[in-house]
Amino acid sequence: MSSQITIKPAAGRSAVEIAEIVANPGFGRVFTDHMAVAKWSTEKGWHDLSIEKYAPLQFDPAMLALHYGQSIFEGMKAYRWNDGTINTFRPLMNANRFQRSAKRLAMPEPSQDLFLSMVQELVKIDQAYVPSGGDKSLYIRPFMFASEVGLGVRPATEYLFLVIASPVGAYFDPAKAVSVWVSTEYVRAAPGGTGEAKCAGNYAASLIAQAQAKEQGCDQVIWLDAIERKWIEEMGGMNLFFVMGSGDEAQLLTPSLTGTLLPGVTRDSLIKLGNDLGIETHEGKISIDELRSSLANGKISEVFACGTAAVISPVGMIKGEFGEIQVGNGLPGEITMRLRKALLDLQTGLAPDENSWMYRLV
Ligand SMILES: *Cc1c(COP(=O)(O)O)cnc(C)c1O
Repeated sequence: MSSQITIKPAAGRSAVEIAEIVANPGFGRVFTDHMAVAKWSTEKGWHDLSIEKYAPLQFDPAMLALHYGQSIFEGMKAYRWNDGTINTFRPLMNANRFQRSAKRLAMPEPSQDLFLSMVQELVKIDQAYVPSGGDKSLYIRPFMFASEVGLGVRPATEYLFLVIASPVGAYFDPAKAVSVWVSTEYVRAAPGGTGEAKCAGNYAASLIAQAQAKEQGCDQVIWLDAIERKWIEEMGGMNLFFVMGSGDEAQLLTPSLTGTLLPGVTRDSLIKLGNDLGIETHEGKISIDELRSSLANGKISEVFACGTAAVISPVGMIKGEFGEIQVGNGLPGEITMRLRKALLDLQTGLAPDENSWMYRLV
């Protein structure tokens, strides 16, 4: 099935205005001229698919998403290559994860074709907003929520699936390593919960720990498992990697997907890329005590977090109730920056795409 999307072009910003935005985009401040919209109801299934003017939505105060939180999202990026094409990275992974998130929250699952068509048509019509060069890109945000009106607690019978996009620059300064606070008071996810789903509620529940991290003078929060408060899971909205050893002997370790971690596309890709670069990569468990002793005796030389928004973010300091400990010399590590470059070169078309991960949108 090919999804039939009605394209309704709308007047937007001038070429000069767009050029200014694209030259200095910031992060998620400015959105493109259009948005993709699809509706779903129990009666009609998916219907009224369109690309239309980016505009505020109108909703009833009793819209179910506001009350019971059926709301999921994705995050992906489109890059303008030197050859003039616009490409995105492993979009089927996002489409599949969107389906799994939808299923977990008892929402309808958009087909891969619908998901990809919405993203592609939006990028096509707003292609002037895709920046070029360095680590600039067009951030794409597909999201879906319960749009039915009512206060009954049950899966909604109507949903809106939208895609919006925003030109972005670097999310973090990669030359600086972030500091992290190990939260022992709050947890992000528990077995049987929604930790594997990219749902809005997970973020709402994480903000208080993020605020605590800030109070402690840290940039980000590290999550431990809910049961033993011992096993390292994630950093904020990103997956974590540890560099064991250094130089030619270096190996990578990332926490296993136990059901309470968000299965990141970047995480999955770095496992493969690490191995391709000759850095043996393992999935396993690592406790906070093990991390502390391995940092102290140098067995772990680098720590970094990864995700679509920030790509790879070096961790320079870890703080908790136990005190604080520096990672290596506190600066971005060599392996971290090598992996970051390998991934960015691939995504921006500067390195060959041996795994066929890139997907041409325009
Ligand atoms: C989105 C997200 C990630 C990173 O996933 P990517 O697919 O690599 O962008 C990691 N952890 C959490 C909690 C997330 O929401």
